[in-house]
Amino acid sequence: MSNSTKYIFVTGGVTSSLGKGIISASLAKLLQARGYTATIQKLDPYINIDPGTLNPYEHGECFVTDDGAETDLDLGHYERFLNVPTSQANNVTTGRIYQSVIEKERRGEFLGKTVQVIPHITDEIKDKIQILGKKGEFDIVITEIGGTVGDIESLPYVEAVRQMLWEYENDCIVIHLTLIPYLAAAGELKTKPTQHSVKQLLELGVQPDILCCRTEHELDLNLRKKIAKFCNVSINAVIESRDAETIYDVPLLMQAEELDKVVLEKLNLPSKSIPNLDTWKSFLTTLKNPTKEVNIGLVGKYVELKDSYKSIAESFIHAGVANQCRVKLKWIHSEKLTKSNIASELEGLDGILVAPGFGSRGISGKIEAVKFARENKVPFLGICLGMQCAVIEFARNVLGMTEAHTTEIDEQCKFPVISMMEEQKSIANLGGTMRLGSYKCKLKPNSNTANAYNTELISERHRHRYEFNNMFLEEFENKGMMATGTNPDTGLVEVVEIPDHPWFVGVQYHPEYKSTVENPHPLFVAFVNASIANLKEK
Ligand code: GLN
Repeated sequence: MSNSTKYIFVTGGVTSSLGKGIISASLAKLLQARGYTATIQKLDPYINIDPGTLNPYEHGECFVTDDGAETDLDLGHYERFLNVPTSQANNVTTGRIYQSVIEKERRGEFLGKTVQVIPHITDEIKDKIQILGKKGEFDIVITEIGGTVGDIESLPYVEAVRQMLWEYENDCIVIHLTLIPYLAAAGELKTKPTQHSVKQLLELGVQPDILCCRTEHELDLNLRKKIAKFCNVSINAVIESRDAETIYDVPLLMQAEELDKVVLEKLNLPSKSIPNLDTWKSFLTTLKNPTKEVNIGLVGKYVELKDSYKSIAESFIHAGVANQCRVKLKWIHSEKLTKSNIASELEGLDGILVAPGFGSRGISGKIEAVKFARENKVPFLGICLGMQCAVIEFARNVLGMTEAHTTEIDEQCKFPVISMMEEQKSIANLGGTMRLGSYKCKLKPNSNTANAYNTELISERHRHRYEFNNMFLEEFENKGMMATGTNPDTGLVEVVEIPDHPWFVGVQYHPEYKSTVENPHPLFVAFVNASIANLKEK
C-alpha cells in the first residue's frame, strides 16, 4: 500500500439497525484511547448524492460537518465519541460515486473504454475509501458499509472490499456485525442466521476476521465455539455485543470483550498502552447518577422519529452530565399545538427548545411555543427555524406586525422579518445549495451567549437559506430583542436574545452538531443550567 494506514471494514448481516455506527465509533474510541489516530467513514448505498434532500423520516437527521457536507447521522456519533471533526470525505453515497465516474467519462478520462461497475465503479469506491488514509493523518480508517450484506445495492461495495483485502492483505480486516436472535419459545439463542450471513459474504469472496454478535442474552462458550467453527473465525474473534443501557456504554463493553486487542493483533499492530478511558468512565458515572432532573420540551414536527433530532437529544445528554442532572425530554409535536392547548401542553416544563425545520407544516405551533416561553419566562432555545420563529413571534406580538412572517412560507407577506439570503436568490437546485458549514460569529460582551461560550468569537455550523432581515433590526432592538451575535464579515444576524427574560436565546446556526462527550456544547450547558434555575424558583 502507498502508505501505512490500516483499514477496517464493518459490514452488517441478518438485519438492518444493528448499530454498525455505534460499534464503529466504539472501536475507534478504544483505538484512540490506546494512542492511535483513527477516523470513521460511512459508505451509503443509496443513489442520492447526499442525505441533504432526504426527508428526516427516511434516515433521521442530516448531520452537517465543518466543511459544509450534508451527511448521514452516524457521522454525528463518530464526532461525539472521538471528539474529532469529520468532513465530506467521511460520507460517500452511491450517487456520489456514480456522479464522479460519469463526470470522468464525460471528460474522456476512460480513453474510449466501456465504463462498467467492475472495474470503474469499484475503483472509484476504493479511491474514496483511501482518501482519508492518503491524507496521512490517520493510523487507522474504519469504513462502515451501509445496508445489509445481500442487498443488491451493496454488491459493488463488498466487491471493492474483496479487492482491497486481496491487494493489501496485511493492512485490511473485516468485522461483520450480525444478530443472534433469541427464540423465547425454545428458550435459545440461534446462530443459524449468522452462519447464513457469513456464507453470503463468503459467496462474494469475503471472509470476515471478526464477528460482532448483537444479542439480548449472554453468548456462552459453547455458542462462541459453534459460531467460530461454522464461520471460520478464531474463538477470541467472536465478540458479544449485548444490548446496552446507553450507547456510551458500548466502548467499555467492547473493551471487556477485547475487541480492540483482537483488531490490533489481526492488523499486526502493537497494542501500545492500555486504553485510558478515565474521562469517559467519569462521564458515564455522572450520567447514571444524576443529582437532579429537569424537564425540557422539544418542539418539532418530526418527533415521531426521534432520530430526526439525534444531535439535539445527544447534546442534552452531554449538557445534563455537565450539570450533574438528567434532562428528561418531552417530545412535543408542533402540528398539535394550538392557542387553546398550549398552556396545558407546555405546563410544568423547565425549559423549551424549538427545533430546526423546513416548510410550513407545524410552524404556527412553534410560534405559539415561543410565545408561551417568552411570556411565561421559561428558558428558551430556538435553533435555526426555531430562532426564526422567535423573531416572527416577537414581530407579531411585541412589535404589532401581525402579518410578519418568513418569506419561506409567505413570499408576499407585509413584514418579511425573515427573508431569503441575497446569495440564495439565484439558486435553482435544491441539493447542497444552502448556506452550509462553519461560519464565524462575533458575540456581544455580557450577552447570555457570550457568557455561555466564555469568549466572543465563535465558529458554528449552518444549514439554512433564510436569515434575519436587517431592515427591521432597529425596531427589534428598540423593543428588547437584541442581535447579540453577528457574522463579522457580512453582518448577518446569528443570535437573538431578550435580555429582559431569564434566558431567551435564538441561534441561526446549529450548536447541536458540535457537542461531544468530552466537549459538551456551552450553549446547551447554559440552557440546561438556566432550566435548573427555573426549576428551583418554582
Ligand atoms: N427553513 C429555514 C431556512 O432555510 C431553517 C432551516 C433549518 O432550520 N435548518 O432558513
